[in-house]
Amino acid sequence: MIPFNKPLITGEEDAYIRKTMETGRFAGDGPFTELCSRWLEDTLGCSRALLTTSCTHALEMAAILLDIAEGDEIIVPSFTFVSTANAFVLRGAKLVFVDIRPDTMNMNEMLIEKAITHRTKAIVPVHYAGVSCEMDMIMKLAHQYNLIVIEDAAHALMSKYRDKYVGTIGHLSCFSFHESKNYHCGEGGALIINDVRFVERAEVIREKGTNRTRYLQGSIDKYTWIDIGSSYLLSELNAAFLYPQLLLADSIQADRLRSWHTYYHALEECMHDNKLMLPAIPGDAKHNGHIFYVKVENQAVRNGIMSYLKQNGVSTAFHYVPLHSSAMGRRYGTFNGADIHTTTESERIVRLPMYFGLQQEDIHYTARLIKQYFSV
Ligand SMILES: *Cc1c(COP(=O)(O)O)cnc(C)c1O
Repeated sequence: MIPFNKPLITGEEDAYIRKTMETGRFAGDGPFTELCSRWLEDTLGCSRALLTTSCTHALEMAAILLDIAEGDEIIVPSFTFVSTANAFVLRGAKLVFVDIRPDTMNMNEMLIEKAITHRTKAIVPVHYAGVSCEMDMIMKLAHQYNLIVIEDAAHALMSKYRDKYVGTIGHLSCFSFHESKNYHCGEGGALIINDVRFVERAEVIREKGTNRTRYLQGSIDKYTWIDIGSSYLLSELNAAFLYPQLLLADSIQADRLRSWHTYYHALEECMHDNKLMLPAIPGDAKHNGHIFYVKVENQAVRNGIMSYLKQNGVSTAFHYVPLHSSAMGRRYGTFNGADIHTTTESERIVRLPMYFGLQQEDIHYTARLIKQYFSV
């Protein structure tokens, strides 16, 4: 069976975990957390990178930082992971879902302005499959209406929009180091702060609402409870596992992109109107090979091809069931305008096996099965 995902193991992780055991430093904000944060800051070029226990928690921190309260509105796509929405619902916000673009599956930037009201606080673009949203347009709207942009960049570490890394454009951004992502430590994440106004308070929120970080930096002589917060620090064990993966980021990404392009070239010839569509990458986006998907005619065909592939030893997955169709989504959100693409496009998507070290022959085998299924 060709698995859908194989969590990345570079082979370097053991040695780094062992170092943690030798130094006896296991809690958060130790030497490996420092190395990972510096790597993110230097590589991406952002003001501050704070490692967190998950991307979900980084999103929750962002919602706290924005002082989201009852009645505030947040503009999000409905085609996303539940955490993009939950983080704001936890603080009492109302979700305003905006339709996606069928080509990238990203929130349609042309529909955002219509969804803005005097209660809107933030726009949360999700860079689906590591393909950047149209950030120029989104930042322009944010500036014009005085809104904050929080990038859900869970898929998109090392992706670019024009000449900038994804995650360095919005005021705040969130990455995931869950085992299903390109670089991981089992469970983990990062809050990226591009607007320096948020740095000090973010450190407090992450340290259970205390100013312990400033105390450890030596700038105050005792620490105390000064804000709301929680325990959002990543364990050093996780940071030690993550660090060697970050060091190898370029070669890991090159391998994934090679697989992505092999799929693309193998299937290109049978692209056929609505029957078989391949992902579109806008000119301004340089993606990171996080996901390779195809879109077929409808849900019935999708289920058919998925079971055909499974019978022949290939695991695949569909993706998000739109949030606005769930009980919680209906309760806490409304869909702004018409759902023209979100539901129909989400029903058409099939994600193919994609992971570091995926064999080229397995990609060709999968592509052949797809061609056979469609008899082309
Ligand atoms: C994976 C994912 C998350 C959550 O990441 P965790 O680190 O598992 O909390 C959030 N948003 C999107 C779009 C994701 O794919």
